[in-house]
Amino acid sequence: MLLPLLVPQRLQGQTWVINAGPTVEPWDAVRVLSNRATGRLGMLLANAAAIEGAQVTLIAGAGTPESHPLVARIDVLTAAEMLQQCAQSAGKADVFVGTAAVSDYRFAKPIQAKLKRQSCPKMQAELIANPDIIAHIAAMPKRPKKVIAFAAESSQHIEHGKQKLQRKKVDAIVANDVSNMGSDQASGWWITPKQEVCLPQMSKSQFAYVLIEHIGQE
Ligand code: C5P
Repeated sequence: MLLPLLVPQRLQGQTWVINAGPTVEPWDAVRVLSNRATGRLGMLLANAAAIEGAQVTLIAGAGTPESHPLVARIDVLTAAEMLQQCAQSAGKADVFVGTAAVSDYRFAKPIQAKLKRQSCPKMQAELIANPDIIAHIAAMPKRPKKVIAFAAESSQHIEHGKQKLQRKKVDAIVANDVSNMGSDQASGWWITPKQEVCLPQMSKSQFAYVLIEHIGQE
């Protein structure tokens, strides 16, 4: 375990909130709607910020790997739970980073019991849109000074990233390729209203430190 004793405490006095991993939306007692996010990058970012002296809260979706003991961690399942915990913690934060892959939809009427298997060849279930957590945080009257979102794209990364920067009213977007999901490596672009910086391929733990550098310079 890396102890912060020999690491410059550049982030001392700052409070960071980071969300990570997938959200899981229940359909019935055993079935869920989710995605392939692992939470690894969010966890690494939380660890790196804590080791550099920040007070860090990680709002962790299902399966997010264990975080450093210096990180205060709140485990959540659904987007609604994630929103509630993020909004509560973000009120006191200087920096909010949204690495989570929030399910765009949830089941309109989740069922407590296990649904019986249907014999008909088609099944219909109604889905309703989840709130946009990071847009909510960015619109809070007492919002963190820096709100950073991610954009996982399969094409036109910079263009889509810029659109999200404006739509979500965040201060920066980390645009990256969907292939980063589940990989130990990451690459992408740091996009702000003033600049686009290419972030070459590197390990996810290095990527976390590079992002902290960029966030610090914002
Ligand atoms: O719109 P899109 O899902 O591509 O945006 C990705 C960014 O928005 C990520 O930072 C993600 O954490 C955040 N997001 C969110 N709430 C949602 C959907 C995405 O906070 N419902």
